[in-house]
Amino acid sequence: MAAPVLSLSARSAADAVAATDGAIGALASADLVSLDDEALRQLLIDSERLARRISSVGLRVFHEADERGLPGRHGFGSPSAMLVGLLHISRHEAKMRVHNDFHLSPRSHPSGGVRPPRRPHVADALACGAIGSSHVKAILDVVDGAPTQAAPDDVAELEKSLVAVAELFEPSVVRSVGTELLARLDPDGDPGDERARRKRRGITLGQQDEKLMSKIGGELSPTARAYLDVLLDTWARPGMNNPGDPASPAGAYADADPEVVKACASRDLRTPAQCRHDALEAMLKHFAESGHVGGSHRGLPATVVLTMTLAQLEAATSRTVDPSPESRSATEPVVADEAPTTPAISGDGPFGGRADSFGRFATPPEVRAARQPVRTASGTLLPITETLKLAEQAHPVLVIFDHSGVPLHLGRTKRLASQAQRLALLPNHRGCTHPGCTKPATWTQIHHTREWAAYRRTNVDELAPACEEHHALVHDRPNGWATYIVTSGPDAGRCAWTPPRTVDPQRKPLINRVHHPEELCQGIGAPIRDG
Ligand SMILES: [Zn+2]
Repeated sequence: MAAPVLSLSARSAADAVAATDGAIGALASADLVSLDDEALRQLLIDSERLARRISSVGLRVFHEADERGLPGRHGFGSPSAMLVGLLHISRHEAKMRVHNDFHLSPRSHPSGGVRPPRRPHVADALACGAIGSSHVKAILDVVDGAPTQAAPDDVAELEKSLVAVAELFEPSVVRSVGTELLARLDPDGDPGDERARRKRRGITLGQQDEKLMSKIGGELSPTARAYLDVLLDTWARPGMNNPGDPASPAGAYADADPEVVKACASRDLRTPAQCRHDALEAMLKHFAESGHVGGSHRGLPATVVLTMTLAQLEAATSRTVDPSPESRSATEPVVADEAPTTPAISGDGPFGGRADSFGRFATPPEVRAARQPVRTASGTLLPITETLKLAEQAHPVLVIFDHSGVPLHLGRTKRLASQAQRLALLPNHRGCTHPGCTKPATWTQIHHTREWAAYRRTNVDELAPACEEHHALVHDRPNGWATYIVTSGPDAGRCAWTPPRTVDPQRKPLINRVHHPEELCQGIGAPIRDG
């Protein structure tokens, strides 16, 4: 079933959008109370169908924009960067839409003419609203897993069968039916050939949540699994690598005293999942300190680089504030610098204070600043207590800044001499300086805001970090971005990016505040603040 083609000659796209908007408005304000159960049930189904059809229209519009080279002409580094920049969707979501476009949009042939989409049945079903985006993902995942030697007709038949399942069932059913159908497609074969396995392998790390925890997910190849099992068998044994037990031996079971391990295991209350987590943490620490990581990565030392302010260090060591809510009992008095009505710190948000309305905090700003988690060069946030523990036991690089962001202490200075400039850029910028970019410092290159070839000078106050994608956008051509270091006002020292006229006709300079969430919380938008 193909979606009806909108005739733009008869009716402009803007008219069609206005008419759709009007119809949605009518639905949004319709009196649902007067509907009988059957009509309500039908409306529920119809709203879902419409939402799916609209998503198919969005894909069609994106395909046309991409075919025309709109991303490049409008100053975006890639098609998915355009989706993030214009629609403010996540990078993950943007990549999924680019993937869907690849499979579901008609392909233009180099010799002219248009060929049908790679997955025409999925494209049609989405266009008429019979399946949704989670069905699309499930079907494409299964079809991608088809053996490489499978006949094209068989793959098309597989796609058609899965669409039929998706029209009636939820995506998880599509996946389990898909596994069954794949096995029939290749009954004597390897369970999914080598290439299909290689395609699926991957590890994803989620963003840190409000408790600074990160979700990890993904799929391991059989070899990676085999190695991991070997390591976990000896490092994750009960009693081993337990951070909650000072007597618990670190490292592999084979190197530990069996009697000590036995004693530690008898009081080990961790779940198997917690044991595996602690073993992994111990292995990562061991490997990071083994000297096998390399001396430096993108100009920064290849170890955990902790950046903290003097206020954070003072607060942590003098315990004028209590950085961990669990360590304070319910009966313990609230610390003096806190208003009695303010609940205990740090549980309420990533910035260690409670917002009484958006961005307005009851705790004084200097106390809040001291309680903020410490940031590593790779963008991870560490609670102060864990930072001090790490600095004590391991050998991270500790960089301490004074209140104006000048480095006071560069740990292990001898090795760092050539890296001091990069470290000095951390407190001001924290990561890529292009407006809206989330890449941490460890993913960036050094950008000379004054053309190095022309000035032959490398002054730290003329440098700013930029990721590869955004560094490439700075050039003199009409769609290039310009940069400069702000010299006065609250944003002094920060790098401003002036968009090309195609992005903003007024060319208003922008500052990236993504790495400075405390500024976003104060309700400050991206434009430069007035001095
Ligand atoms: Zn960037």
